[in-house]
Amino acid sequence: MSENIYKENIFSKIIKGEIPAKKVFEDDDVLCFHDINPKAKTHVLLIPKKNYIDFEDFSNNSTPLELANFFKKAAYIANEKLNLKSYKILSNKGAKAGQEVLHFHLHILGY
Ligand code: AMP
Repeated sequence: MSENIYKENIFSKIIKGEIPAKKVFEDDDVLCFHDINPKAKTHVLLIPKKNYIDFEDFSNNSTPLELANFFKKAAYIANEKLNLKSYKILSNKGAKAGQEVLHFHLHILGY
């Protein structure tokens, strides 16, 4: 985890409950909530509660168990919580790719 370059951002404020979010799922390790500016019929964001900056930081610095559980939860949320039959998962890494928030997140876009 890159604590040294991680900066407090909007998602860490959502995790701490300092700003509201429309939550879909939460446990000790992850939080899933609706995107404030949806780009699909259903658009949620899944984030780890630990401070990873982006996909690369998460992939390189999380434990194998953390990594596996995160993606299993993405599938669980899409299937069981949102009942999505058709969806897209993406993660922007870097400003040129469109990453605005420097806290790793998956977009789950349901159609
Ligand atoms: P990215 O551009 O990949 O970093 O994605 C950031 C996403 O966060 C965008 O789709 C925004 O619409 C979304 N977003 C920003 N602020 C909030 C917020 N307060 N609650 C929910 N989603 C947000």
